[in-house]
Amino acid sequence: MSAQVLVVGSINADDAVRLARFPGPGETVSARTLTTALGGKGANQAVAAARAGADVRLVGAVGADDGAPLIAALDADGIDTAAVARLDGVPSGRAIVLIDDDAENSIVVVPGANAGIPQETVRTACAALRPGDALLLQHEVPIAVSRLAAELASNAGATVVWNAAPAPTSVDELVGHVDLLLVNEHELAAIADLLGVAAEGTTERIAGVVDATGAGVVCTLGADGAAYRIGDEHGVAPARSVEAVDTTAAGDTFAGYLAALTGLPLADRMRRALDAASLAVTRPGAAPSIPARGEVEGLAA
Ligand code: ATP
Repeated sequence: MSAQVLVVGSINADDAVRLARFPGPGETVSARTLTTALGGKGANQAVAAARAGADVRLVGAVGADDGAPLIAALDADGIDTAAVARLDGVPSGRAIVLIDDDAENSIVVVPGANAGIPQETVRTACAALRPGDALLLQHEVPIAVSRLAAELASNAGATVVWNAAPAPTSVDELVGHVDLLLVNEHELAAIADLLGVAAEGTTERIAGVVDATGAGVVCTLGADGAAYRIGDEHGVAPARSVEAVDTTAAGDTFAGYLAALTGLPLADRMRRALDAASLAVTRPGAAPSIPARGEVEGLAA
């Protein structure tokens, strides 16, 4: 049976703007291209989990007037969107993603409908969770929604995976009931600070956060792969060497694959998630850059 992954998170239209370099304060620069596609960490991670082979349901919200193309894009990946609310009088979430010639990105997010996810849809979706299922959360929707989902999923015996991105800035933005915390180095440092973990260095910070929370921790390291400590297993798994074109959604690809492959041994899960994310950085865009399971398995062959 396929893994069941419930994602509670953001859905955006991503305006990807390619330009030679980012503008400084007060400066205007011309862009080379603009393309609009499905994005948002919730949607991206739902797409990644679906392309990894999981049965995926998404709880989120879009604007009633402009959300149809976003829902259609999610449906095209076989994601169950019945619990995506269509809200009147608000626009869908939108992200302006600037990508420079070094493939660095700089992002502004307008939350729109993501701020209005009805708690009732969270309760209904979580009521269907069973032991062995995974709940996948990020940090782009109201913290009360994520907290509620984590508590209900944990009570149902599901594995709660929290990708704490963007980085929390206060203890009020921490989610409880987490089994697996996914972060990049910046987010790890922010969470270690909030938890009072006084450690320098990624490995030491991970150990401190594991001690403070009881959760397993995986910290992605960009081109250097990912460091992890889950139960008795710990180490650094390298990324595949690739030519990066656009790193947008690399972390989302990693998170979606890792949550979808909960049934595999950790080393295999890490390998697949790293390979999927490394493939994603070789292509432009957010959701469109996320590889299918067959491509990822092909790399390992
Ligand atoms: P983003 O916010 O851009 O989605 P992130 O900061 O959440 O990314 P990273 O640690 O930069 O996450 O990258 C996540 C994963 O993507 C890495 O663990 C790796 O597998 C892959 N990756 C990212 N950059 C590269 C790169 N230059 N070469 C190979 N793999 C990469």
